[in-house]
Amino acid sequence: METIKYQLPESEVPKFWYNIAADLPQPPHPVLHPGTGQPVGPDDLAPLFPMGIIMQEVSTERYIEIPEPVRDILVQWRPSPLYRARRLEKALGTPAKIYYKYEGVSPAGSHKPNTAIAQAFYSKNEGVKRISTETGAGQWGSALSLAGSFFGLEIEVYMVRVSYDQKPYRRAFMESFGATCVASPSNQTNSGRAILEQDPDSTGSLGIAISEAVESAAQRDDTKYALGSVLNHVLMHQTIVGQEALKQFDMADDYPDIVIGCTGGGSNFAGLVFPFLGEQFRGGKQVDIIAVEPENCPSLTKGRYAYDFGDTGNLTPLVKMHTLGSKFVPPGFHAGGLRYHGMAPLVSLVTELGFVRPRAYTQLKTFSAGIEFARSEGILPAPEANHAVAAAIDEANRCKEEGSERTILFNLCGHGYFDMQAYTDYFSGNIHDQAYSSEEVAMALAGLPSVA
Ligand SMILES: *Cc1c(COP(=O)(O)O)cnc(C)c1O
Repeated sequence: METIKYQLPESEVPKFWYNIAADLPQPPHPVLHPGTGQPVGPDDLAPLFPMGIIMQEVSTERYIEIPEPVRDILVQWRPSPLYRARRLEKALGTPAKIYYKYEGVSPAGSHKPNTAIAQAFYSKNEGVKRISTETGAGQWGSALSLAGSFFGLEIEVYMVRVSYDQKPYRRAFMESFGATCVASPSNQTNSGRAILEQDPDSTGSLGIAISEAVESAAQRDDTKYALGSVLNHVLMHQTIVGQEALKQFDMADDYPDIVIGCTGGGSNFAGLVFPFLGEQFRGGKQVDIIAVEPENCPSLTKGRYAYDFGDTGNLTPLVKMHTLGSKFVPPGFHAGGLRYHGMAPLVSLVTELGFVRPRAYTQLKTFSAGIEFARSEGILPAPEANHAVAAAIDEANRCKEEGSERTILFNLCGHGYFDMQAYTDYFSGNIHDQAYSSEEVAMALAGLPSVA
């Protein structure tokens, strides 16, 4: 069976980011100051982010122009290909059509450089010398290190301890691009030291690493902070993915009925889904949208929609999102990019409004789906992406049972070639489906900040 690949010319890399805030049926909830409980203004965020980024964060313009220097770098690997998974369809014996947008073609192997390049550009543009950040599985740290070397910025990465130990190649990647990588919790910050005092063997979490990176940026005038997911501007930078997919579906003379993404902080999901959802909000075709998260860190399916902190040390502003509580530390499973206690406020809002069907899958199920995909399509997905693969396969199997010929699109947001330890563990029977700890979540939720 032949490979069908929809490849756009370089000139079709989008010239604008799409801002879903312009099309939402209701305005997003304001971000609140952690001290006063009042909505934050641009000045409150200025110690952490460059002003160019802050203005995007609060913008309600539908389209924001992508600066030429950013686009010049993006064309190195963009437009990314859209594939039709013909061999997988055949292996499943499904009448459904399965497409995937492949973001693993970026130099860091995931969608993350789409925003890393933009964020590094705005920092450089405003005279910043240094950016501090956190990384879970290492994908975001890799992407920002790459972006830092393009723009001549120093990058300091706090890497969640469990991934630091599991993924030494990620650290080597970051160091190759000149970044400094520190295992978090570390003894370099007050937030890190506080955690280590309570639990010297802490495996860390994204929430803890964010506290450390924010603290590091707040202490120095020449340093800003960058976040790889969750915030509005990050989701917006990722919308080039869905905008390209819309054009590629034009080429294919098709349109998806079902659009699927995995959700950690929500950025690859939103990047693919929001341009389609925007079409729907403006009177276009309705799509069935599925967000897939791990059973062990189920913010959308089992979290509470409430104001919470973005980090464990409670240094960040308060945002309204689906959260498991900022003190929740998920178990050390392999899909490190999906171990965040919260969810992007914009993804939470459209889910709360009923435009997204969230679901949670266990580790073993997602690995088995990833292997099945690899053996048909020849690409080994990142463990995070396996969640989207598993949902695409489930939907294709449902189409088979119902005899319905639907069109499925999912985001293959990264490859798994830095994650071979995860696959080794899977094949040697060392990946187990730990029970979801409702007790721990209940404890973490009991500590939610009270907001009027
Ligand atoms: C970071 C990452 C994720 C999770 O982050 P989102 O913001 O939810 O996209 C998922 N998949 C891959 C490959 C990642 O690198």
